[in-house]
Amino acid sequence: MSGNTITTMNYYSLNKQAPNVTFDEAVIRGIAPDKGLYFPEEIPRLPASFWDTIEHLSKEEIACTAMKPFVGDTIDDASLLEIVTDVLSFDFPIIELEDQVATLELFHGPTMAFKDVGARFMARCLGYFLKQRNQKEEVTVLVATSGDTGGAVARGFYKVPGIKVMILYPSGKVSDIQEKQLTTLGENITAFEVAGTFDDCQAMVKRAFLDQEITNKRQLTSANSINVARWLPQLLYYLFAYKELKKKGKPLVFSVPSGNFGNICAGMMAHHMGMPVQQFVAAVNSNTTIPRFMQSGVYAPTLTVPTISNAMDVSDPSNFVRVLQLFENDLSTLSRKLTSYSYCDQVTRATVRDVYENCKYILDPHGAVGYLGLKEYLKGDTEAYGVFLETAHPVKFLPAIEPIVGKYKELPDQVKNLVKKGGITQKIANYEELKGHLTLIDS
Ligand SMILES: *Cc1c(COP(=O)(O)O)cnc(C)c1O
Repeated sequence: MSGNTITTMNYYSLNKQAPNVTFDEAVIRGIAPDKGLYFPEEIPRLPASFWDTIEHLSKEEIACTAMKPFVGDTIDDASLLEIVTDVLSFDFPIIELEDQVATLELFHGPTMAFKDVGARFMARCLGYFLKQRNQKEEVTVLVATSGDTGGAVARGFYKVPGIKVMILYPSGKVSDIQEKQLTTLGENITAFEVAGTFDDCQAMVKRAFLDQEITNKRQLTSANSINVARWLPQLLYYLFAYKELKKKGKPLVFSVPSGNFGNICAGMMAHHMGMPVQQFVAAVNSNTTIPRFMQSGVYAPTLTVPTISNAMDVSDPSNFVRVLQLFENDLSTLSRKLTSYSYCDQVTRATVRDVYENCKYILDPHGAVGYLGLKEYLKGDTEAYGVFLETAHPVKFLPAIEPIVGKYKELPDQVKNLVKKGGITQKIANYEELKGHLTLIDS
């Protein structure tokens, strides 16, 4: 492993009104006191020897080398290796679907969404820091979910000592399997079923973070991709893909189905660390703030539009400020690396059907949006090799998928057992009810 120069990476707030912190502080706080997102002071460049030999390195070696500069000396090398070994204990296969078009499957983790890696890494880091500090006070992870985040976070933090997890989800607006993933674990995980939309859940969470009557009683942190420990490890997907595809000797294009832009921003981070990438494509659904911004330079979020790729129903993506920062807030430099396209549900459904008929491959709605973005970009570039990220298993979106590909005969193991279980939720009608739960200690 590289690096005998022990430097401590500092993180600053993008709002620039808060003190710099080390990785452990940034992870525990989630967001800076001035409400800014934390960003590393320096972008680490990995040495040429790493890129020259990456095809011979294991997942764990790649992960330790790439994460070490971000973690600094807040986690010792042996513990970091232990953490990444545990976090990455499943496959990240690349499947070629057509000439020059492959998918990177990120759904082989316990909740079958790519968020497993970030959630597991954050949970283990937070657990490590609390233990190291010998902290007696429990930390409460409070998170709003439109579907996939909650499951990955619940699973990632399940039974981690010293941490309680509270998840808010909109009643009736997550899929059956997603709801079961939130509500069947028990132990340190509590699910709140909110009478309202995802935006209502998000608003309640934001309000709770600012509510001193709550924060006097509980140390709250967030597990959304604003947390650096959830955001940064996603850069590993791109390194794993590069490891496989380097031998093709072609310029690489990554198409990323995007919502909050954490995943694609992590990919761009890998590029800034020295990984050759020709272009990133941010593929979005009918929530078009970013493609409109790339066209006009005007950032104008609108009301969120509900779609079948619901994990991307975001109109004001919180990580886009980080994308801009990586390119020093220069739109013309950013445009040379980032293209953004949007697709409506009708086109997305038609694509799920076409790819199933032509390639016998079942896309989930998010992956289908990524596929569409990649194909559109590759029309103008026949030299490049394109990879789109499959961010969730299609079985998580049966109501959208089964009318197109027919009924699933064999469910994957991760869901087979879930469907039989009954879940437990706390129903919440308004903020005061949530506050009642949060100020009640020892619940
Ligand atoms: C969260 C999610 C996305 C969007 O990822 P961002 O990092 O928020 O852009 C895409 N697909 C699926 C399946 C997701 O769960």
